Amino acid sequence: MTTEPRSLTEITIWYRGVVEGRLARKIGNSLADAARAAGKYVQAFDNYVDLPDRVYVPCRFYVRISPEPIAEPYLYENYTPSIVICTDAAMAKGCDILKGILPGSVLLVNTKNTPESVMELISDLEELPRLKTVATVDAGMAHEYRTPYGGVEGASEKAASLHTGAIMLGALNAVVPLVDLSDLSNIETDTRGLAEGAEDVKAASNPRFVASAPAEKAETHSYRGRVNLVVPAPAPGTEQVGHITGNYRLDRPVIDGDKCNRCRICWAACPDACIEVGASSDDPMQVNLKYCKGCGICWYICPVKAITAEDELNYVGGMVRV
Ligand code: SF4
Ligand code: SF4
Repeated sequence: MTTEPRSLTEITIWYRGVVEGRLARKIGNSLADAARAAGKYVQAFDNYVDLPDRVYVPCRFYVRISPEPIAEPYLYENYTPSIVICTDAAMAKGCDILKGILPGSVLLVNTKNTPESVMELISDLEELPRLKTVATVDAGMAHEYRTPYGGVEGASEKAASLHTGAIMLGALNAVVPLVDLSDLSNIETDTRGLAEGAEDVKAASNPRFVASAPAEKAETHSYRGRVNLVVPAPAPGTEQVGHITGNYRLDRPVIDGDKCNRCRICWAACPDACIEVGASSDDPMQVNLKYCKGCGICWYICPVKAITAEDELNYVGGMVRV
């Protein structure tokens, strides 16, 4: 793999599968179109590995902007982004969103929380010394998350608010002026959203940024040798460690042991078999958070409303990075 000229800017957008597909494309394509209008060379595309995506799973959309022709247009992943955008903060908590970032990178997260609280969420990531700036903006949720989402695949994308995208674009361009605002306004006609984002964005310097931190070695981005695609099934009563999926949960089910009558309806309904029953009928029901995706079925179905959905961000730790 040859090295791209340093003038190439890679932007990675993390979003929720299906329901935010349109939102991610709106942000990414608007950036690319505005840059192209200014004579830049651009690419904008989905991550192949993430597709076909599933409802709410973390997915990535990529943009590349360069003043020169892009030397390697057929690389299907942004290996060295310098700008990372997240459509919600739970993905920052659960995924390796900074993978491969260049020294001096910028992270923008859609959240009501502060940049400092986002830095807490990503404090375990080894790329942190290369991250210079963290910015947050409350662009609102693109759609209603707090319903069971098992059956809405493909359907609720239409409900995504593209106003969220305009606010995020305005926020990004205020922190990193990638494109001219007039070019962006010609493409993203929600100029109220652009102005809102520029006004409301909060940015902070990462105190753990090290200006001399080396970039990741290029060879870590090529995959050679064998990849084992066969993951053996777990033995009965054990866990499938190769398929931990609790890293993208937005809401955590919390069971009130006093209200719960041990009817086991949630145990039977959980699509991921991650509700566990104790040996005796008095034992409290437990949720295996390594696999719970926060789909909402259990708190929706519980006949005595013993399960509540709590914002995952209220809990320090507890998500497993994959
Ligand atoms: S459905 Fe509700 S009451 Fe029944 S076991 Fe689950 S938490 Fe308890
Ligand atoms: S425990 Fe509840 S929220 Fe978690 S995956 Fe199972 S049904 Fe969905």
